[in-house]
Amino acid sequence: MHLQNLIDIESRNSLDFIINGIDAVIYVIDVDNATILYANDKCKQEFGDIIGRTCYKVLQTGKSEPCEDCLLSNNNYLSHINSTYKWEHTNSINNKTYLFSERIIPNNTKNGYVKIQIGIDVTNQKELENKILEQQLKTIETFEALSNATIEGLIIYNSKKECIKVNKIAPELLGYTPDEMIGKSAFDFISEESIELVKRVIRNQDQSPYEAIMVRKDGSKFPAMLRGKDIKLGDEKIRVSALMDITNIKLKEAEISQLAYYDSLTSLPNRTLLEDRLTQLIYKTKRTGQYSALMFIDLDHFKIINDTRGHIVGDKILQQCANRLSVITRQYDTVARFGGDEFIVLIDTQTTDYSLAVNDISIIADKILHAVKQPFYIDSNEYLLSASIGIAMFNTPISIDELMKRADSAMYHSKDNGRDKYSFFNQTLQTSLERKATLLSKLREAIEHKKVKIQYQMQVDYNKTVVGVEALARWTDEELGVISPIEFIPIAEESGLIVKFSIYLLHEVATLIKSWENDEIKSKWRVSINISLKQFERDDFYDVIHHLIRKYNIEANKIRLEITESLLLKDAHNALLKINQLKALGVTISIDDFGTGYSSLSYLKKLPIDELKIDKSFVADILDDKNDETIVVSILSIAKQFGFDVIAEGIENEEIYQKLIDLGCSYFQGYCFHKPAPKEYL
Ligand code: C2E
Ligand code: CA
Ligand code: CA
Repeated sequence: MHLQNLIDIESRNSLDFIINGIDAVIYVIDVDNATILYANDKCKQEFGDIIGRTCYKVLQTGKSEPCEDCLLSNNNYLSHINSTYKWEHTNSINNKTYLFSERIIPNNTKNGYVKIQIGIDVTNQKELENKILEQQLKTIETFEALSNATIEGLIIYNSKKECIKVNKIAPELLGYTPDEMIGKSAFDFISEESIELVKRVIRNQDQSPYEAIMVRKDGSKFPAMLRGKDIKLGDEKIRVSALMDITNIKLKEAEISQLAYYDSLTSLPNRTLLEDRLTQLIYKTKRTGQYSALMFIDLDHFKIINDTRGHIVGDKILQQCANRLSVITRQYDTVARFGGDEFIVLIDTQTTDYSLAVNDISIIADKILHAVKQPFYIDSNEYLLSASIGIAMFNTPISIDELMKRADSAMYHSKDNGRDKYSFFNQTLQTSLERKATLLSKLREAIEHKKVKIQYQMQVDYNKTVVGVEALARWTDEELGVISPIEFIPIAEESGLIVKFSIYLLHEVATLIKSWENDEIKSKWRVSINISLKQFERDDFYDVIHHLIRKYNIEANKIRLEITESLLLKDAHNALLKINQLKALGVTISIDDFGTGYSSLSYLKKLPIDELKIDKSFVADILDDKNDETIVVSILSIAKQFGFDVIAEGIENEEIYQKLIDLGCSYFQGYCFHKPAPKEYL
């Protein structure tokens, strides 16, 4: 054999050996007619005797059309010479899967091209992939089951924020069918007012829960808790959004906040909310310099209605009152119930002009006073009330405590000045309040240690013969000096200290009367004692006097009680009963400061009194002021009609004394006779 042929045979054999030995399917196709020219052993094992047959018929068992891959490669081979394609087939006899790649090369033996295709067995990989796919499918199933089991709606959006998948709940919450939701924009489900917020959350890739208002298909809205999570799925970034309807939670929250921030009786803001609003107002004022005001409103004598007519009536009045206040004030003002019969109104005047602000506030205060004064009708009964208002204005930072204190003080100022009034807080008021507070604490101490003394001022008849004395309280503080009873008696009355002091005074007076028993002159004197409302009102007042007379064994008619008209005004019926009881004991009664109060002549005829006392304010100017003279004349004439004695106080000179004698007055008290002095000087 020719050497060259030997080599050829050898190389051909070794080539066959190699090609058939490879664990790959190899075959050659004539590209012109798709006929298989060559197949290795492995190829024959897998696809049978395929030489001479059309490739796609063999390789695609059961199909008569060429596969896309074959066609593609066949039709375009010229432009794809030497290029490689890959595709998979699974129609092997042994049921294996092959991954093919091919090359197109010129046919050496004749003009034209052949395709060499090599297939590698990928059955195992394929199985593995299938398993993974199965696993994935299971995961998806589990996900769907889970997503439908949750109470939240789940919506999956693609990167364009279009809905691509929903669970069962989401369409239920939003009123769509699942299909209707697919393809819709995320913002189709968000209410207008929340769109900016949602955009921001998405932009910041925020994954924490947040609240937004959602809108249903029918346009209705509901509050929802939302939480989105960005996930990368293959190349696409998707966002899984969970949503929960929180309407009920919101309602509960509102209920709780109603309880926490509003008064249950009147539905007005309570103290907590008031403090919150006040803090905001103080902050705003600090920023703008505009004037604001805190108005403290206290109903006058509300307690009496509450105590005598019962809480149900009281509550109804408070409710009506709350309504009236709400109607008067503007939307940006706050009306709050502070407790009991106290209300607070916060006013934002929105002006930096002081007088405009004062004017604005005064108008509202006037309206409030007017509104409270309108009759309240409850169960066809009419109730009349009034209010006392204290106003603290501010346009610079101030603490809540300080503001409340100021308004409260101003309110008391209104009460002290006759109620049914409003007062602005100012520095003078502040000073007087501070003094009042100081005096109160010192007075408590002084009364406790009997440092409030008693002096006596003689009372004389037209002959200047002494007929009795008036007991008057005197207090000199070590630091503050002499303090007038005009200043400290009201404080003692307000604080209730007067009760303790008057017990001391009564015992002092009784001791004094007793000590005069054997004095020829003084044993005829009586002692006038000033009785304040707080004392007189007490249930034990009669017992105290009765006990005093018995204990000291003194004549009752030596005691003269000076009471004022105001004391008769409050509860005339009870006052009359008490006076009658006292009279029965033998004590005598004088009406002090007669003519200064709201005199009602009708009570005079019922009262078993002994004396009218003309106040010094009418006496002082009697020589110059015709009106004062007229008043004094009237008092004297009334007394004559009813048979009362008349005593004039504050007589400082002879002329006045003479004038009063001329007018017919019979008893006198004043500096021109005697000044108040300690008992040792009597
Ligand atoms: P009041 O009951 O009208 O007492 C008369 C006041 O006139 C006393 O003032 C007395 O000192 C004063 N006075 C007497 N003569 C003259 C005079 O010629 N000219 C002038 N300008 N004043 C004269 P006082 O002692 O300052 O008492 C003031 C008020 O304090 C009393 O007015 C009375 O309402 C009250 N008060 C004084 N002591 C007591 C007390 O022990 N208990 C109670 N509840 N009130 C008292
Ligand atoms: Ca008096
Ligand atoms: Ca008087």
